[in-house]
Amino acid sequence: QKFVYDFTEGNKDLKDLLGGKGANLAEMTNLGLPVPPGFTITTEACKVYLDSGEEPAELRDEVGAHLAALERRMGKTLGQADDPLLVSVRSGAKFSMPGMMDTVLNIGLSDASVVGLAAQAGDERFAWDSYRRLIQMFGKTVLGVDGDLFEEALEAAKEAKGVTVDVDLDAADLKKLVEQFKKIVTRDAGRDFPQDPREQMDLAIKAVFDSWNTDRAKLYRRQERIPGDLGTAVNICSMVFGNLGPDSGTGVAFTRDPASGHQGVYGDYLQNAQGEDVVAGIRNTVALAELESIDKASYDQLMKIMETLETHYKDLCDIEFTIERGQLWMLQTRVGKRTAGAAFRIATQLVDQGLIDEAEALQRVNGAQLAQLMFPRFDHSAASVLLGRGIAASPGAAVGKAVFDSYTAVKWSRSGEKVILIRRETNPDDLDGMIAAEGILTSRGGKTSHAAVVARGMGKTCVCGAEEIEVDTKRRRLTVGDTVVEEGDLVSVDGSTGKVYLGEVPVVPSPVVEYFEGRMHAGADDADELVAAVHRIMAYADRVRRLRVRANADNAEDASRARRFGAQGIGLCRTEHMFLGERREMVEKLILADTDDEREAALDALLPLQKADFIELFESMDGLPVTVRLLDPPLHEFLPDITELSVRVALAESRKDANENDLRLLQAVHKLHEQNPMLGLRGVRLGLVIPGLFAMQVRAIAEAAAHRKNAKGDPRAEIMIPLVGTVQELEIVREEADRVIAEVEEATGTELRLKIGTMIELPRAALTAGQIAEAAQFFSFGTNDLTQTVWGFSRDDVEASFFTAYLEKGIFGVSPFETIDKDGVGALVRSAVEAGRATRPDLKLGICGEHGGDPESVHFFHEVGLDYVSCSPFRIPVARLEAGRAAA
Ligand code: ADP
Ligand code: MG
Ligand code: MG
Repeated sequence: QKFVYDFTEGNKDLKDLLGGKGANLAEMTNLGLPVPPGFTITTEACKVYLDSGEEPAELRDEVGAHLAALERRMGKTLGQADDPLLVSVRSGAKFSMPGMMDTVLNIGLSDASVVGLAAQAGDERFAWDSYRRLIQMFGKTVLGVDGDLFEEALEAAKEAKGVTVDVDLDAADLKKLVEQFKKIVTRDAGRDFPQDPREQMDLAIKAVFDSWNTDRAKLYRRQERIPGDLGTAVNICSMVFGNLGPDSGTGVAFTRDPASGHQGVYGDYLQNAQGEDVVAGIRNTVALAELESIDKASYDQLMKIMETLETHYKDLCDIEFTIERGQLWMLQTRVGKRTAGAAFRIATQLVDQGLIDEAEALQRVNGAQLAQLMFPRFDHSAASVLLGRGIAASPGAAVGKAVFDSYTAVKWSRSGEKVILIRRETNPDDLDGMIAAEGILTSRGGKTSHAAVVARGMGKTCVCGAEEIEVDTKRRRLTVGDTVVEEGDLVSVDGSTGKVYLGEVPVVPSPVVEYFEGRMHAGADDADELVAAVHRIMAYADRVRRLRVRANADNAEDASRARRFGAQGIGLCRTEHMFLGERREMVEKLILADTDDEREAALDALLPLQKADFIELFESMDGLPVTVRLLDPPLHEFLPDITELSVRVALAESRKDANENDLRLLQAVHKLHEQNPMLGLRGVRLGLVIPGLFAMQVRAIAEAAAHRKNAKGDPRAEIMIPLVGTVQELEIVREEADRVIAEVEEATGTELRLKIGTMIELPRAALTAGQIAEAAQFFSFGTNDLTQTVWGFSRDDVEASFFTAYLEKGIFGVSPFETIDKDGVGALVRSAVEAGRATRPDLKLGICGEHGGDPESVHFFHEVGLDYVSCSPFRIPVARLEAGRAAA
């Protein structure tokens, strides 16, 4: 096994082996771009080290051989006293990862070679500056010395001299600083700064390997769902110097604007500087465009290289470069990060430039980015005061009065106030407050904290871990520096950027939603450009996708919106939503009915109302399928709360004026009370024990369809039976339904062709799907219940209690209610699809759980061969896009 690759041996597709940085350094080398020579130690070597605690035996010699080759090529040896070869040791994993070891520059300098370097460069100051940087970086990142000690010494040296920037320290000052730095190392690390260059290099390599497992790195990987066993590569790169005077410098650049996608010159440059100086902000950088007047030749060359990179990578690249005495060197490139809006624009720009095709353009964007573009946003043209910044945990723009406890959040929101719940961190006791609040802000915790997980589950705006903010729950206020925000003061929380503002920042609707709604107003050029890009990408997606996309909707308004958003029907109409409000009483009557007459009267009262609902719904979805699910939830949901009612009755009895109805109600509530309502009397079980209930619903559907037919409409109703576990249940319900439908057809003189199918949402249903398909014309996977029953936990309970712990321990990378659990729940779906189709080849297959709008899940449903996904109206564009990406 080969553990070391020269830059000339790799290429950009070897990221697994060489890490992102190493693979791209090799790619640039092979493109003939000016990259300082060097080599890369593979992630495989790192893995051996992490597994066994020791570097592979061959590594030392292999590194030695590559180093010798590098030395021959450069005509000097590492740390050679009269003319030292210097190198940088740079970490580089497959995914760029904050929390990994920083790069160490200038390896090879020592008390002896610093003199040689000064002589060779004809610049003493430069040599000592490089040496003090080495001791500082090496001390901090390899030997674990507290970095502040170096910073303080540097500050003191500047102060003593009366200067403010490091370039004003001369060789003598820096020489003194080096002595001080070495003492700091000895004192703090308990060992001297190593003078042997190979020892410096080897220690640095080992430190890079070790940095894979720092707490910060591990935390980051868990949050970003990066596997923990990839390991990191290590790049050894011969040094070039940007700190050799005013004709030298270092910079960063983008090949196009990462915010808008526009082509142009974007970047920063800093003269006479090394490495991180540009981003560290120690001196003011200049805009990259100014390099043209500083060093035209290098500037022109850089522009040409940027063009080469763009056409080669066919994408926006970001780069790091250094100029050493007029000679340009490329030190890094990668496909650059960009905003969600820029992703869409760049994808279409690249299509127009002929660099990529439409299928590739679809891979350059994703549903999460589209979802981000659909949230309302703050209008930043209005003045706003930034309070702080945290992790963008759950997107959206929320404005409200600051409250610091859940009780107040609930109380205020009941009286019509909008509130932002601010806590140091949240726990299950905060649930009521979180529900009541417009948005949630915490000063502690990351993407998997309780606040973040629960807020995302509720679709509520949340910023967490805003660490500058000091939350004082006792005094009901927060402080940031000198600013104090008291309970009741207005704050604005941007869950898409993680920023928190003082006061009310105005909110504007997303132009992308305005576009989907067909209300896109002209005039805003920037928005028009974004909308045009989204429009084109959506058209590509619609052209290639195989999955159809339906909506979960149960009223005409949602249905019409869904249609505007591109829904191709309704995949789930929940009829229980039609029994709320004033109709609740009618359901109560049905539940309390003692006699057949009473029950029939109650059903007769409900029938016309249901029918009217369906007529409206079929009209708004004319020509498209509408899947109506018969009543699903446990009946107690329609009755008063058991505790409240008990108290009311007890009070009334003590006053001796208990009313008959309340007593009956209480009896019924007791009778229907269940320990596990989720697993109790619900779904098809209701239909089987409450005579006439399902028949009434089927009649309402059939009569509504007949009505639409007679009005020259094109209703396409599908009747769906929930919570079936065995084919017998379905057969019994079907028999009755077929009879009712035949009656309606007869009475109205229509032919309705209603489809009858079932949800597959219990493990037993999935396991016996082959039998169930005998009685079902379609399956719709209810992945919410299926997830609950396969895992054996109730969604309403677990998300607030132990999910955070599970996410933190890495048991889940993501909640199985958010993204389908492919190995467990997904496996059942897959086998049920196969069994169902084996019985009935024309079986229609869909999914109507929360997962229908989740990008990763959509890909899975495409892959297992479903016909459609159904999701909430707002997720439809995301599902369309992801279905297209899955098929492209
Ligand atoms: P990061 O992953 O944090 O970007 P890098 O390995 O790219 O770390 O290095 C940090 C800084 O040091 C960058 O500005 C880079 O350009 C610079 N640098 C790295 N290697 C060399 C080198 N051989 N010569 C000059 N500068 C270098
Ligand atoms: Mg870099
Ligand atoms: Mg269900």
